[in-house]
Amino acid sequence: MTTNLTFGDLGLSADILEALKKKGFENPTPVQEQTIPLLLSGEKDIIAQAQTGTGKTASFGLPIIERITPGLGKVQAIVLAPTRELASQVAEELESLTAKRDIRILPVYGGQGMDTQLRLLKKGVDIIVATPGRAIDHLKRKTLKLDDVKFVVLDEADEMLNMGFVEDIETILSHVPEERRMLLFSATMPPPIMRLAKKFMGGYDKVKVASKQQSAANVEQIFYEMYEKDKLRALRRLIDTEAEFYALVFCRTRAGSDRLAAKLSGMDLDVEALHGDVTQAQRERILAKFKRGHSTILVATDVAARGIDINDLTHVINFDMPDSSEAYVHRIGRTGRAGKTGKAISFVAPGEFRKIRNIMEVTKTTIQKAYLPSGQSVIEAKRNAMKAKVFAAAEEEAPQEFHTLAKEILDSGKPKQLLASLLKMHFGGSMHPNAYPEIMEPERRSAAPSRRGFDRRPSSSRPFKSFGKSGKPHKHEAAVFKKKKKAHF
Ligand code: AMP
Repeated sequence: MTTNLTFGDLGLSADILEALKKKGFENPTPVQEQTIPLLLSGEKDIIAQAQTGTGKTASFGLPIIERITPGLGKVQAIVLAPTRELASQVAEELESLTAKRDIRILPVYGGQGMDTQLRLLKKGVDIIVATPGRAIDHLKRKTLKLDDVKFVVLDEADEMLNMGFVEDIETILSHVPEERRMLLFSATMPPPIMRLAKKFMGGYDKVKVASKQQSAANVEQIFYEMYEKDKLRALRRLIDTEAEFYALVFCRTRAGSDRLAAKLSGMDLDVEALHGDVTQAQRERILAKFKRGHSTILVATDVAARGIDINDLTHVINFDMPDSSEAYVHRIGRTGRAGKTGKAISFVAPGEFRKIRNIMEVTKTTIQKAYLPSGQSVIEAKRNAMKAKVFAAAEEEAPQEFHTLAKEILDSGKPKQLLASLLKMHFGGSMHPNAYPEIMEPERRSAAPSRRGFDRRPSSSRPFKSFGKSGKPHKHEAAVFKKKKKAHF
């Protein structure tokens, strides 16, 4: 995602370069490379098509920090963001970029104590990062003055419009001086965004970081075809096979996310669900836990996942397919960030096939059809992972008391049996192939093998149906699983 240009080439000052070095930013990302020089020198407004994860916060934050007057204590820049979380993330990121300049940044959103906000606003703030609703509250109370604003940033403008904030945004803009510079960041550019731009922006420069290219570069996109009823088992199979699994799993509905999280949790996995029914306090707790890696699977709806800024995700799973290609691009943009690689995996039930076909057509991207690992290969992967973990653990010297205990246990004889029990106790789960019965692929009525990204195997080897050892299809596979599930998970 980064380029060979340096931040110094973009015209930033020495103290800011130092702050970037401290933060570990080596090179600017494409959106930073394009936006920073425009904002440092030009006068025009900017429309940037870039989603979360592209480095957009620093792309507007750095030039704003360069161009406002430190220590003024009057709001010189206002950033509007759709959610509390994004507002606080943006404020935090900006704070880390200020070097040692006397620039006060305040996040302002609903659900935060009004008294603290009022006190801090009174003390003087240079950059405010607000959700539209709370900004309006303060404007009405006259506790927020925007007369000195030189920069207005609309962050995730499409999300703000989707959430019905258009009137609030218009009201806020009417309180800002005409000569301000306006920056609009949006992952998508639907007509309402362009109308807003036309109404409130003067001449503007356009910056585009094609999400398609970013995702294509760092994200491996594949899909599996399966019946709806098999999705949970398929997910379990992937979790058991992948060496690393730190994932966002998307479901269509709140109830669906809850159900899936409950089932995964019943399998002893560290999972949390995030959806619209979760309170703000719970949401913050869940996200903090996930960020620290204390939970490794986050099941979410599209709405709840908005604005989540989590790096290092190894997988994004479309447990339910999204309805639009834009939602797909947005979802998979959560992995493969900042130069890392990630996997975007879609579970396609028969009724969802046209969705993936549509996504491929609209995004002109190849999503490769893949086949779920066989039960035997899941077990092989589990065995290898266990061995690797045990050997890695043995590299570290255990305290003497454990050696004494080990000696006592081994002296009782049967070392192999003891080790086997210990492994079972520690890793749990099953190593028996019956725990992973075949998952049958649905027959596709209008198979279109010539399309991009579809199965490229000759039709004779395309396993639209899977067969048991007897050569007969597993008619009663679901029942077999039901019986075994309890014993093995
Ligand atoms: P954003 O798109 O602003 O939400 O940024 C996504 C993540 O990328 C944040 O965690 C940033 O700290 C990080 N980031 C932004 N710019 C860079 C850069 N030039 N090099 C490395 N990481 C960056």
